[in-house]
Amino acid sequence: MKSLQETDSKIFDLIQKETERQEYGIELIASENYTSKAVMEATGSPLTNKYSEGYVGKRYYGGNEVIDLVEQLAIDRCKELFGCEHANVQPLSGSPANAAVYLAVLNPGDKVLGLKLDHGGHLSHGHPVNFSGILYNFVQYEVEEGTGLIDMDKVREIAIREKPKMILAGFSAYSRNIDWKRFKEIADEVGAITMADISHVAGLIAGKAIENPVPYFDIVTTTTHKTLRGPRGAVIMCKNAFAKAIDKGLFPGMQGGPHDHVNAGKAVAFLEALQPDFQRYAKDVIKNAQAMAAELMKRGYRIVSGGTDNHLMVIDMTSKGISGKEAEVALEKVGISTSRSTIPFDTRKPMDPSGLRIGSPAVTTRGFDEAGCVKIVDIIDRTINAHDDEAALKGIRQEIIELCKKHPLYK
Ligand SMILES: *Cc1c(COP(=O)(O)O)cnc(C)c1O
Repeated sequence: MKSLQETDSKIFDLIQKETERQEYGIELIASENYTSKAVMEATGSPLTNKYSEGYVGKRYYGGNEVIDLVEQLAIDRCKELFGCEHANVQPLSGSPANAAVYLAVLNPGDKVLGLKLDHGGHLSHGHPVNFSGILYNFVQYEVEEGTGLIDMDKVREIAIREKPKMILAGFSAYSRNIDWKRFKEIADEVGAITMADISHVAGLIAGKAIENPVPYFDIVTTTTHKTLRGPRGAVIMCKNAFAKAIDKGLFPGMQGGPHDHVNAGKAVAFLEALQPDFQRYAKDVIKNAQAMAAELMKRGYRIVSGGTDNHLMVIDMTSKGISGKEAEVALEKVGISTSRSTIPFDTRKPMDPSGLRIGSPAVTTRGFDEAGCVKIVDIIDRTINAHDDEAALKGIRQEIIELCKKHPLYK
């Protein structure tokens, strides 16, 4: 068989380019990480050739004796890692996983309580432009204007008033721990199903650095490619009572054939996350994020909720007289990747909001410690101060390249 380089030099070159970009850039996008070589080998394997609609031992195609073993390993390791009763490892990504859950336990028009997008929620938690908001009746809770925190008494008030069929806890941009137990108590009080979407913090939970909702919640979804450091994909975990409905909701309800090469990568990532090393990683991710938050605040940046308990933070860039988009663009020029973000009660538009979301998972994988993260903040601060000085930004770009050379990724 011909290699990629021989078959398609254009794509080969672009992959080289992207690899270089990753090697010589600082990755602070809170939802990104670097998988291991082992995970990439599994996802780049001949398993991509197989069709295996159905589940282990119950397939609609022949030749699945090996695939069954792969999927079963992924399931067993997922159960061990999170302590769940049932695991479906077939979701292609986070949004389809959530879609499968809604399809499994809701009817169109049913009421769900979820965190508002511009307060830290996710598109698939009921935003009006997303299938979730189009098909289901999402009622949203918010964070408090003064503290930036979710007030659980208010969540309870809304739950009692609205009587949702399901309560959804989870976020894409909230830097504080969630009171899972209290969510479950509120749901029990109003007779609602509990769903947690731990996409962002799954790695911190797997690494035992923050509390796990799996013992309390009926259904828990997560992506596998964020803090969990696996391939791009997702899993759904649930109590046995929901297992049949969830499996049916995903296939044949939502998806066709699973991506077996990616599921093999998930199995590898779960094995990696079961090692003691990964628990150290999860704790370091939080320490590094807290070091960044403290240094930013020392330099006069306002952080939503005043700090972080996890891997991310949302910075109110208007505290430095610059918008989130301007900050993102300036940082991109020096080789630091971040994502602009709305802040709660934002007065600016979503395409050019007030906030910037950053996170520590990728730099921690690369071996940065707290001192290294303080250094990154120093560079961020100088970049923001010099955001319209192209010559200064060029100088900082060189500094980033030197810093990246001290933390090799693929070289
Ligand atoms: C990232 C994320 C998702 C979506 O995952 P995709 O793989 O991008 O579809 C869903 N929910 C939450 C909370 C997320 O952070």
